[in-house]
Amino acid sequence: MKTVFITGASSGIGEACARKFASEGHRLILNARRAERLEELKAQIIRDTALTEKDILLLPFDVREREVARQAIANLPAEWQAIDILVNNAGLALGLEKEHEGDFADWDTMIDTNISALLSITRFVVPGMVARGKGHIINIGSVAGDAAYANGAVYCATKAAVKVLSDGLRIDLVDTPIRVTTIKPGLVETNFSVTRFHGDQARADKVYQGIEPLTGGDIADCVYFAASAPEHVQVAEILVLANNQASGSVIYRK
Ligand code: NDP
Repeated sequence: MKTVFITGASSGIGEACARKFASEGHRLILNARRAERLEELKAQIIRDTALTEKDILLLPFDVREREVARQAIANLPAEWQAIDILVNNAGLALGLEKEHEGDFADWDTMIDTNISALLSITRFVVPGMVARGKGHIINIGSVAGDAAYANGAVYCATKAAVKVLSDGLRIDLVDTPIRVTTIKPGLVETNFSVTRFHGDQARADKVYQGIEPLTGGDIADCVYFAASAPEHVQVAEILVLANNQASGSVIYRK
């Protein structure tokens, strides 16, 4: 039984990762801002799997609040301190606008969440892994980080940063047994597009029209594949696209 810390576990890919690791018998530390969603998920996992109350710890906080994150992780109960797997998943896209016309607040939120917060959580968790001589960091990047697409430059840049930060961490940990993986999903139907379009459900639905998108469960399977590989195998990256998708911008819709 490993201890798995998942950020952004209240929805979508993070929630699916929580269910997957739970179904495989691993104990969970679950983070997101919406504590009530985490409570619901915890109750469902206890109902659906062999995990019990003592196997799931909820750690609701905003990952952008560096000091709050520092305290939450430093003050983990002793039996939860040894995190084996960190899934840095919390993240978002906001807006779809030309770079020279974009919204400053949207940019700040994306950069603070997708880059700065991922770095903070990494900084607070990985030293413990180094001290224990074991661990695995799985960062959720995106096909968006491979190349810019129209009206998405800032989001794409944050996901390019996730790839480069993962690569850098893998280099810095090369003399340890600790593994670093980047998962780069394509089109996944979650709450992602509703968030991107500031709650416009009809506009979000159009993103997934005419194509069968990936599900959060598909991505959780990739995360679990990397996490459950033999110790001598370091899955560096997985790029996973919907069948009728060839890149961040080339999508065939029926
Ligand atoms: P969702 O909107 O369904 O989930 C996003 C999760 O992130 C929620 O649990 C949300 O929880 C959490 N989150 C957002 N901001 C914060 C914050 N400041 N502090 C703590 N938690 C936060 O989207 P996805 O599941 O699709 O997104 C998960 C990751 O996957 C993101 O990094 C995204 O960039 C990436 N991705 C998604 C793709 C897609 O097509 N869906 C494709 C490629 C990558 P809460 O609101 O409760 O805080």
